Amino acid sequence: MLLKPSRWPIEIMRLRRVHQSYPYRQELEWCHFCRERHTPPEAAPVFRLPLDLGLRIVSFLPFSDRCALNASCRHLEKFVTNPVAARVRHTLREFGLDPGPFLESMQYHGAVIGGIAALRIFVEDVPMPRVLEVYTRQGHPDLGAPNQEEYDDDDPSADRGNGYRLVETAIFTYGKCQLLGYQHYGANVEKILRMRNSTLDREILFVQSRVPPIELIIEAPTTLLMNFITSNDAVCLYPDLTERRKGLLTLPIPDDRSSTLDVPVLDTLAGFRLYMFGNATQAVGRHRCPLHPSCPAVPRAYPDLLMYTVRFTDAGGYGSRLAESTWTLKVPSPCGSTERIEQRIGGPINWP
Ligand SMILES: [Zn+2]
Ligand SMILES: [Zn+2]
Repeated sequence: MLLKPSRWPIEIMRLRRVHQSYPYRQELEWCHFCRERHTPPEAAPVFRLPLDLGLRIVSFLPFSDRCALNASCRHLEKFVTNPVAARVRHTLREFGLDPGPFLESMQYHGAVIGGIAALRIFVEDVPMPRVLEVYTRQGHPDLGAPNQEEYDDDDPSADRGNGYRLVETAIFTYGKCQLLGYQHYGANVEKILRMRNSTLDREILFVQSRVPPIELIIEAPTTLLMNFITSNDAVCLYPDLTERRKGLLTLPIPDDRSSTLDVPVLDTLAGFRLYMFGNATQAVGRHRCPLHPSCPAVPRAYPDLLMYTVRFTDAGGYGSRLAESTWTLKVPSPCGSTERIEQRIGGPINWP
């Protein structure tokens, strides 16, 4: 016997809701915030809690429930958007950037922030990186004052804004891979500008892309790096896996697990107690393809409902939206025909 029947009535009494009579719609007060009539927010128990307690409770919810909260009512939205907005702003300030103008400039350039800084928005215990990766199609966002318009492009010591100086321009594959910590990084990166602020000991990489930035993000070696921050929202492309601290690898794993696999960024992620799998079934769990939302065989699109998106600001007047993208994740061992690789690797991969 698991439950003692004698305890039931007490539990049931506790759960029973206080009877409330709802007034007719026309008697309700007009809410200017969400432009409709409804009961005053104070009537909902969650709004009677102090805000930080509400935020704390919501932080324990899975991404799918936060999505639902976010979408259900504009008054509840703040429980989801406030923490994300605070983390994005905090990240930019750590890099000496003024969030407002920088986000607006990102919008103008159609740029997104990727890498560890974006992952950190969703997995809160990941530490602040030293390097901010900004993916852009053309040009790059302004770093802010004192941005000298007339700086000499050949003068490396020129302050390009907020104390950042250009220290390197990576054009060749080797240099690009070194900077990003990815082994295979492709033909789609035109060049990388490495800016350094020696006072803050921070770096910003402007990764100039030949394709829309989202298409670069989905070239990352694991789904754990498939997150980005736009001027308006923070997006996690594989929320169910990320929430469980798991990532699918998108790199081929050599049969003999030979040492040719040298992807420093994966070591970094493993150091944060995040787990990566080459095998889709191991990462996602047993499922029927392609019914599971994290199944790599599911054709994906941005924007789409399968991802976790938090709009944190309505900033900017340029109105430029990121280009839409569609893809199917390329994994070394897709679901279904995975037995051989499963036996060889077995369990989370420990990167040496
Ligand atoms: Zn309202
Ligand atoms: Zn599958």
